[in-house]
Amino acid sequence: MFNMGADLKPKTYGRDKHGIARSSISHGALKVCEILRAHDYSAYIVGGAVRDLLLGVPPKDYDVATDAHPEEIHRLFRRSHLIGRRFKLVHVLFGQETVEVSTFRAGEGGEADATGRLLRDNVYGTRVQDAARRDFTANALYYDPHDETVLDYHGGFADVRKKTMRIIGDPGLRFREDPVRMLRAVRFAAKLGFTIDQKTRAPIRELADLLENVPSARLFEEMLKLLLSGHSAACLAQLRKEGLHHGLLPLLDVIVEQPVGERFLRLALEQTDSRIQTGKSVSPAFLFAALLWHEVLAAWKANEGKDMRSIPALFLAMDQVLDAQTDKLSIPRRLTTTMKEIWALQPRLEQRSGKRALVLLTHPRFRAGYDFMLLRSESGEVPAELANWWTRFQDAETEERNAMLIPESAAKKRPRRRRKAMTSDAPEPTPTQHDPDN
Ligand code: ATP
Ligand code: MG
Repeated sequence: MFNMGADLKPKTYGRDKHGIARSSISHGALKVCEILRAHDYSAYIVGGAVRDLLLGVPPKDYDVATDAHPEEIHRLFRRSHLIGRRFKLVHVLFGQETVEVSTFRAGEGGEADATGRLLRDNVYGTRVQDAARRDFTANALYYDPHDETVLDYHGGFADVRKKTMRIIGDPGLRFREDPVRMLRAVRFAAKLGFTIDQKTRAPIRELADLLENVPSARLFEEMLKLLLSGHSAACLAQLRKEGLHHGLLPLLDVIVEQPVGERFLRLALEQTDSRIQTGKSVSPAFLFAALLWHEVLAAWKANEGKDMRSIPALFLAMDQVLDAQTDKLSIPRRLTTTMKEIWALQPRLEQRSGKRALVLLTHPRFRAGYDFMLLRSESGEVPAELANWWTRFQDAETEERNAMLIPESAAKKRPRRRRKAMTSDAPEPTPTQHDPDN
């Protein structure tokens, strides 16, 4: 591989240089390293955890790298699982915590496709090789809890201090091996406030199309990590800057040109980021429903323009948008079902007459549909008055509620946008069990 001879000996940083306090490290990760070591294996905390500890940011999770093989690791920990088929990892559980333990791997020797994309990366290796196969220098630091040193083969320590994301080895080659690394560069840079090193950045625009060869389920996972990073707005802005968004979410091209759509998207992302930063849960289905909403609106309008009735036009639009999206980044069905429910609720929330409004309150997705409508209202797409009405209506006592309802006869006389949405031929979205994952 690259520079392997030259980098055989790592730089070593002691406690006084790196400043990582043992007490700031997770109990589980320390325990895993201690037990492996007691059985004569070497074991280090690696990856994002070391980077984050150096930055004083609490790590999201901990990875441990070792020369023990998966079966050997598994045998040492009663509460552990072997994960993966081709390349096995071990998940070790400590209470709520899961520590991911992997055996040192060599990046080379794998099989590649015509574009240079590595199809397999499942050859065990040494610690030196393991460092070289990692993506960025900042992600290739090894913390040894036994003597509290940080080992650095690729200059990651200085790069963390300089807040630089730098790929290890030749950027073009490494991005070809795994185009997802381009998205990772953007995510880490946006999340950590790093700059992508100039040489690392240079080939990205040209290689952006290689993302098309990545299995769409993996792209979805990566996109989800990006959107749930707590810095989604910054990530998407940077994706655009690097020219990486085209294939992923085609809407991002269009959206900036529509003031309402732009505002809607920005609000959705800001809300997501602030929820994540304050430790609240976020619904991926809600987020993707928001990301694609203005595509749906455009297709809906186009279908209506072809003389379709409003509700069938909306349902067709949802399928058109989701089908087009699936080629690029396949959104799992468990999410698309909920997304469609959220969208289908929108015209129904615009009616406030008779029993229908009461029935909506019991819809399993009412809350998500209502929150979605609040976003539409904040971005100026529906009147604030409508949103306020629903806010009051759902908390009102029975008597007040009845008084709030617009009588059917009056509702019929009022000409309203998407009037057809109010007719009874609107198909009922199928109620599904509430799934917190969605
Ligand atoms: P975070 O968990 O904060 O998102 P991380 O750096 O820990 O960031 P993970 O996806 O958990 O990222 O991966 C752990 C480590 O595995 C990385 O730090 C990196 O060293 C290595 N790694 C992960 N994905 C790749 C990849 N596509 N190519 C090369 N190395 C990778
Ligand atoms: Mg990690």
